[in-house]
Parts: sequence; C-alpha cells; structure tokens
Amino acid sequence: MEVTVVGAGIIGLTTALTLEERGHSVRVVTAGFGDQTTSAVAGAVWFPYRAGPPAKVAVWAAHTRDWLEALARIDPAAGVDVLTGYEITDEDGSEIPWWAAAIEVVRAAAPVTGAPLAWRFTAPRAEPAKLLPYLAARLRAPIAVRSVIDLAAERGDVIVNCTGLASRELAADDSLYPLFGQIVIAERGTADLSITITDHRDPERFFYIIPRRDELVLGGCSLPYPPGAPPELNPGITARILDHARWLGLRIGAVRTERAGLRPYRLEVRLERDATNPRLIHNYGHGGAGFTLCRGCAEEVVALVDQI
Ligand SMILES: Cc1cc2nc3c(=O)[nH]c(=O)nc-3n(C[C@H](O)[C@H](O)[C@H](O)COP(=O)(O)OP(=O)(O)OC[C@H]3O[C@@H](n4cnc5c(N)ncnc54)[C@H](O)[C@@H]3O)c2cc1C
Repeated sequence: MEVTVVGAGIIGLTTALTLEERGHSVRVVTAGFGDQTTSAVAGAVWFPYRAGPPAKVAVWAAHTRDWLEALARIDPAAGVDVLTGYEITDEDGSEIPWWAAAIEVVRAAAPVTGAPLAWRFTAPRAEPAKLLPYLAARLRAPIAVRSVIDLAAERGDVIVNCTGLASRELAADDSLYPLFGQIVIAERGTADLSITITDHRDPERFFYIIPRRDELVLGGCSLPYPPGAPPELNPGITARILDHARWLGLRIGAVRTERAGLRPYRLEVRLERDATNPRLIHNYGHGGAGFTLCRGCAEEVVALVDQI
C-alpha cells in the first residue's frame, strides 16, 4: 500500500517506520520535526501517564516497552537506555497499580528521604534529541516539510493522521485538549544516573527525575491550558520542582535550561479509521505517554492498514 503519514513527532515517525518494516511504501509529510515537536520536550521515560483507555494502554505500553528495550540492546545511537524506575507510593502495596498489568513491579524501599515505599520496575528511557533523528534517518523516503490543511486531500491508498494536538483543528476534535507540562534540565551533579523516580502522592506537587546520559530532566506538572495558546514557561513551577528535588534529598547539579510543552490529551487515544473516510486512520491523543505507547499503537495502525 502507498501510505502517507502526517506528522513527525514520536507517533508519526514510529508509525511510518513500522509500516515500512511491514512492507508498505511510506511518505511522511510534516509541518515541523525535531525540536519543533512536543515530542522533543518529553522526559521520554516509559510510564503510562495521562493516557487511556487503561486496558488498551496496558497492551500498547507492553509492546512499546519490548521495542524500546530491544533498541537499547541493539544500538546505543538510538538514545534509549534501560533504567530502574521507582514510583513512590503512600499506599500499603496490597494493590498492584493498573499500569503494571503487563509488566513486573515489586514493592521496594524508596531511594529518597521522607518516602518509605515505592513500586520498582525497569523503565526504558529515550532521549528525544537522539531517538527522533535516529528514526527519521531510517525512513526510506525523505520527509516532506509542509503544513497539511486537508488530511483527505493527501495522496496515497491510506493517510495516517499523527498530528498530535493539531488534530483539534485538522480532525475537528474538541475532545482533544492541551495539558501543559514543564521540565527543568540540570547538570548531573552526583545523582544516580541509573534510576528514575516519580512522586505522584500529591497531584498538586507532581514530581519526577529522569536521568539522561549527560543531564537530568526534572518535572513536572500537568495543567489544563487554553487551546491555541503557545506554552509559556512558569518560573513558579521551576522553583517548586527544584524545591521538591531538594526535599527528596536528590543531589542534582546546576540548572541548564527549562522547557515547556503541551501534551495532546484525550480521555482515550484516538486510533481508528475515520467513520466518514475509510482511507483515513487517526493515531493521536497520546497525552503524557507518546513514548510509552508509540510502537504498540503503530502496530495497531499496521493491522488497520492491512484490513483496507
Ligand atoms: C513536559 C513533557 C514531558 C513528557 N514526558 C513524557 C515521558 O516521560 N514519557 C512519555 O511517554 N511521554 C511524555 N510526554 C508526552 C509526549 O511528549 C507526547 O505524548 C508525544 O510527544 C506526542 O507525540 P505526537 O507525535 O503525537 O505529537 P508531536 O510530537 O506534537 O508531533 C506532531 C507532529 O505533527 C506535525 N503537524 C502538526 N500539524 C500539522 C499539519 N497541519 N500538517 C503537517 N504536520 C503537522 C507537527 O509538526 C509534528 O511533527 C511528555 C510531554 C511533555 C510536554
């Protein structure tokens, strides 16, 4: 099949590459790539955060995890490493978290001060600045850079819409909306680079630390944001994130920079054929979990294309 994939964030690139691997002829068209995407801002650790529906997310996340772990083994240039994840919890540990449906998690002592318990699991982490160009370089055809106005007018037997938040307009979808996120990038300091820690105990003080090979990503927040407005850094959020790191006793280095982005959130990821146009498949609305779900969703797109 001749397939046009619209969008070159983590969802578009993974979808395009997976379609190519299964024998389809793929062309990617995008308004922007690399640093111009939301994907570039992500901490990009495997964790099914702010995405639904839970049953499908568990399956997509499990497939993506296998793929990321294989990339980490096969080629360091992909920028994927397998870390140990700790999800700090106040709960007594009698109930396994929903996102753990397809992976092994164990209760463990939290590796920070003032928090006794955590769920421990292995957590693949990507570096977007490495993984996005790595995937793009593996596509057979060069990426075409232009803004698509009408998805249905694109060439090909099939068009796959991977435009993230832009689908609010392109697919006229009001159920998709922006969730603001902000991260702080810091020097490594003497932090343990092999572990990532998430602290969701207080939703108002959501926190995570994700080590990269040469720096630390600290977050975060997840706040409703006016549709259409560009994301703007909030110094109060940065101060709160750094306070939280100190409070947990994390030994981070100097702040390098801050970044903000808008997660494309929907109650449920939209992964289906368009009801009015059978040539069009939607794959957007991955919320805070695009890197966690990309390969599982791409495989489902392949299955839908194969039915056409
Ligand atoms: C602060 C922050 C931290 C995050 N941390 C994580 C994490 O740790 N783990 C995780 O799994 N996820 C994380 N996420 C979520 C993740 O970044 C998103 O789920 C993911 O980036 C969505 O990818 P996407 O490809 O759908 O969208 P995008 O990356 O936004 O890509 C959309 C693409 O569509 C193109 N496009 C848009 N409009 C048009 C048009 N009209 N014509 C042609 N092309 C168009 C854009 O140029 C772009 O290439 C985080 C997000 C934020 C903001």
